[in-house]
Amino acid sequence: MSYTNANITTRKFDVVIVGAGGSGMRAALELSRAGLNVASLSKVFPTRSHTVAAQGGVSASLGNMSEDNWHYHFYDTIKGSDWLGDQDAIEFMCREAPKVVYELEHFGMPFDRNPDGTIYQRPFGGHTANYGEKPVQRACAAADRTGHAMLHTLYQQNVKAKTNFFVEWMALDLIRDADGDVVGVTALEMETGDLYVLQAKTVLLATGGAGRIFAASTNAFINTGDGLGMAARAGIALQDMEFWQFHPTGVAGAGVLLTEGCRGEGAILLNSNGERFMERYAPTLKDLAPRDFVSRSMDQEIKEGRGCGPNKDYVLLKLDHLGAETIHKRLPSVYEIGVNFANVDITKEPIPVVPTIHYQMGGVPTNIHGQVVSQQGGNNSAVVNGLYAVGECSCVSVHGANRLGTNSLLDLLVFGKAAGRHIVEFNEKNREHKPLPKDAAERTLARLNQLEQSSEGTYSQSLAADIRATMQQHAGVFRTQASMDEGVQKIAAIRERVGSVTLQDKSKVFNTARIEALEVDNLIEVAQATMVSAAARTECRGAHTVYDYEHPADHAEFPLGRNDKEWLKHTLWYSEGNRLDYKPVNLKPLTVDSVPPKVRTF
Ligand SMILES: Cc1cc2nc3c(=O)[nH]c(=O)nc-3n(C[C@H](O)[C@H](O)[C@H](O)COP(=O)(O)OP(=O)(O)OC[C@H]3O[C@@H](n4cnc5c(N)ncnc54)[C@H](O)[C@@H]3O)c2cc1C
Repeated sequence: MSYTNANITTRKFDVVIVGAGGSGMRAALELSRAGLNVASLSKVFPTRSHTVAAQGGVSASLGNMSEDNWHYHFYDTIKGSDWLGDQDAIEFMCREAPKVVYELEHFGMPFDRNPDGTIYQRPFGGHTANYGEKPVQRACAAADRTGHAMLHTLYQQNVKAKTNFFVEWMALDLIRDADGDVVGVTALEMETGDLYVLQAKTVLLATGGAGRIFAASTNAFINTGDGLGMAARAGIALQDMEFWQFHPTGVAGAGVLLTEGCRGEGAILLNSNGERFMERYAPTLKDLAPRDFVSRSMDQEIKEGRGCGPNKDYVLLKLDHLGAETIHKRLPSVYEIGVNFANVDITKEPIPVVPTIHYQMGGVPTNIHGQVVSQQGGNNSAVVNGLYAVGECSCVSVHGANRLGTNSLLDLLVFGKAAGRHIVEFNEKNREHKPLPKDAAERTLARLNQLEQSSEGTYSQSLAADIRATMQQHAGVFRTQASMDEGVQKIAAIRERVGSVTLQDKSKVFNTARIEALEVDNLIEVAQATMVSAAARTECRGAHTVYDYEHPADHAEFPLGRNDKEWLKHTLWYSEGNRLDYKPVNLKPLTVDSVPPKVRTF
């Protein structure tokens, strides 16, 4: 069988949203409530999107349990980002935070409560009061199932608002017309294997992260960076892809996440001497320093022989001193994960942990309305008409070179809503759909038919495994220039093989092998963007730490050679020509004074 224009069905919507995680559903709600005809696509049932796995909380300076205000949150986020975050977007997010969290509460979100009825808030890494003086309680939590509660709340509100869900549909490519405007997507209905063109006035990408380009990851299997692949193939840049967050506490050997909320509740990290080593690296915030900082410290302890276990290759997270009652009340899932994935009862003994890939700071570049921006003739903020992006697949950029925990769930709510609002306005002014170009499905047909016609070649599973092994080896917690350069070569060689992927089973109904083969086209874009952007950045900033670049004398234990003179700028990677470009960081907030770059200690 081959796919042809003749067997494609076209359907028309006001808006097509690719992704029904927290960000996609927050946007969908805004749109459906305004009466727009919205198609919300998801590879899995909406409430199985990765947002469901978020444990620790969503940040907002409510000040329910300790003195707080959005200025502190704004400062922490900039410092956490190692000054690569755009200060206009950060101000917007931190100011909006209390509003969107209360809104979520009113949608029915079952937050934990304080005795006075207010939302329970716990401390989290890098979140402080009085500009770094002491940890603050800013993470609004529903036990250690905050994402689960949030996603179900948003799903129910969307059902009420009559959003059209396309469950188990995979979007494949963006459709751009001769003006470069986005006018729809191509999509595969997994159940039937049929191809569709979904025409829309606006397409919103909300496809989440791409943590599956690494071998050891806290991310769901579906997190293959599809939105990034779609954007890259359509000629749109991917921004700041060298910045990947390692979460300090993945279960050693399993990769499953133990929330930072553990340390928020008082858990501590220990080396093989039983020493609470974070006191040495971050005297003020200790175990609650930002994630890049803690992950590097752990790696350093392991490298210097103070790791635990027979191979000295992990450290321990100790929780038993919190008491069984607190653990069962505040961290019930963490308790279950301990038993199921490490055979450890955390109420009695410490659990082995290692830094594990968790989050991409980079993504499809947008402005604060969620509109995708591109460089056009010296203008860095030209808008791609008809295309928006929100959530982990986007880069607005509020997280810069390192995200603070709980700022992602916040990002989904703030920018999901903002994008929704903006699209409603756009829709009011634009009553007609733009016509589809004749070759709307051409790229997708070529991809599908390459698979249909293949009789021999590489299996997609083995290619994906090669991508993951390469990224794990060449883009880890600590990087070296030589290793990154080698990684660039290896990924380029793997890319050559992607064009000859073979599909043995060519049946149509629920053919997951076809889906996986199509996902590899996205993995390779993300992997190459990451490797090439990383190898070019000859400094250390946030999560991008390269041994080769010198460290300031007062920080001998870390190679923190940040070079603001040359590198206070965003990376843009283009798939076509495998080319890099750069644009300045916005150090100007919307209304308040800028926070100028300084040395980052905790
Ligand atoms: C284990 C874990 C714990 C976390 N804990 C926290 C926390 O406590 N606080 C915090 O702030 N952040 C946390 N994070 C980060 C945060 O949860 C994520 O960044 C965020 O949930 C991503 O939301 P999203 O809407 O962007 O994407 P997702 O929730 O990942 O949803 C992506 C959606 O896109 C769909 N999709 C993807 N590709 C396609 C395609 N081709 N066609 C159709 N649909 C597609 C998927 O089916 C899915 O519906 C955690 C992350 C992990 C992995």
